[in-house]
Amino acid sequence: MIALCPGRLMAYTTNSMPELPEVETIRTAIEPLIIGQRLTGLELRDPSILRGDAAAVYSTIADAAVHSVQRRGKHLLILLEGDRTIVIHLRMTGALLLEEPADPRRVRAVLHFSNETRLYFNDMRRLGTIAIEDTGSCCRRLGPEPLSDEFTPHRLIQCLASHRIPVKAALLDQYIVAGVGNMYADEALYAVQIHPLTPANELTANQVKSLWHSIREVLRRAIACQGASIATYALPNGQRGTAHDLFKVAHRMGAPCPRCGTPIQRVMVRKRGACFCPACQRTEKGEHRDGA
Ligand SMILES: [Zn+2]
Repeated sequence: MIALCPGRLMAYTTNSMPELPEVETIRTAIEPLIIGQRLTGLELRDPSILRGDAAAVYSTIADAAVHSVQRRGKHLLILLEGDRTIVIHLRMTGALLLEEPADPRRVRAVLHFSNETRLYFNDMRRLGTIAIEDTGSCCRRLGPEPLSDEFTPHRLIQCLASHRIPVKAALLDQYIVAGVGNMYADEALYAVQIHPLTPANELTANQVKSLWHSIREVLRRAIACQGASIATYALPNGQRGTAHDLFKVAHRMGAPCPRCGTPIQRVMVRKRGACFCPACQRTEKGEHRDGA
């Protein structure tokens, strides 16, 4: 789906999955509202959102108190007493809202808490999921958190050295690094002038060190802006994030590169679009690569 922005000669895709900064913003907003509260209801308006048998699942968490709200990659985790965790994945168009939206048809589930707080899971494309898992086992297979001490330049160097896939695809692999998605991978690669189709194992150690720094910088900046409201993403109170105002290449196909003025291009990388500057992000040999 393409939306045109007349007057700025800019076209951008409206498909935009909430990534680490968006989920972290939601986590920060809802934790003080529900921590210590009891889960008094799980209203399933679309039962397909829930993994597993609804009645059996709910019986294990009914009336449990919220210990904390955490994030792992793009997953939002509501940790409950009894070592159970509600794992929410917003996928492409999911949002958690504190008020019922004007069009309630897209609300797939509502979480009710003992202090009357309600979280409306609004989801236009109906791809989001809610799962109930044992706290100790959820999201264990994901790669390191990019803003944690566990994610070091050395670790990224070692990991990318063992992958021949395009670096853009490697950054989207949640088992390599958790939470980075299409928008922030494009921004991180642009900042260090690496072509998205460059094979991961062809990057030099210095390039990967720069990329490591760039990933963290891009994510921190986006969290400070409360995420990017390109399409359906909104804060729980309905406000929009502003991180997209700082984008240099993501969702800016056809717009001039802020560094050199060349129109931003889009190339397919393993079935996902990557926006980049063809002048600033050339391959080592100065050639353009074909989409893989
Ligand atoms: Zn450029």
